[in-house]
Amino acid sequence: MRSVLDFLAGRMNVGIVKQIDKKGAGGMYNSEAAGLSFEEMWARIIACDARYDGLFFTAVKTTRIYCRPSCRSRKPKKQNVTFYMQLDQAETAGYRPCKRCQPEVQHSPWNTFIEQARSFIVAHYREPLLLQDIADHVKLSAYYLERLFKQETNETPRMFLEKVRVDRAAHLLRCSDKTNLEVCYEAGFQTPSNFYKAFKRHHHCSPGEYRNQGTPIVREALPASRKPLGGML
Ligand SMILES: [Zn+2]
Repeated sequence: MRSVLDFLAGRMNVGIVKQIDKKGAGGMYNSEAAGLSFEEMWARIIACDARYDGLFFTAVKTTRIYCRPSCRSRKPKKQNVTFYMQLDQAETAGYRPCKRCQPEVQHSPWNTFIEQARSFIVAHYREPLLLQDIADHVKLSAYYLERLFKQETNETPRMFLEKVRVDRAAHLLRCSDKTNLEVCYEAGFQTPSNFYKAFKRHHHCSPGEYRNQGTPIVREALPASRKPLGGML
């Protein structure tokens, strides 16, 4: 079975490896999963978000250990963290798996399909995705993929897609100067009303309230390719 990284690189023809200056402040990452920046991955591990398990691994320079995003162990210092998209990369770099979250253990034989579906969603959340698109990429029927996804994760692919879009929007609201409308389309929502409803469901406040509640963590330059798509209304 192909790895998630091969899947991303080969099937979807996206540039995912991005080296950055190792002396840069705020930790580092070896590669960037399409759609996830260092700050977004950092936010996911602070939230112990199991829904991103398998999509990237957190390696800690001081302990030489790597973890799943959902690991409940004490959080490392940001500057000591490196993110790897693949388990092999962390192992090759000399990191050992965490005994608590066991990132090297596949919990279910279906994990590969789920991870491929999730990777596809994270890479394509800005597009008007259909269940069939995801099913085609993991080579399962749409019906079976939905059942499997629900059985393994307690949510549907559609619910995960919404979560990814809301996470992206939350990041942009706090870390960019984009207007709420720009954030709406940048995060892949088709209409402002869908955006507001989904955001409120997850954060129990409006996007504007969310932006005003927090101090910006870091202002990131967004990749040039992330321009709003036309024709999505
Ligand atoms: Zn761990």
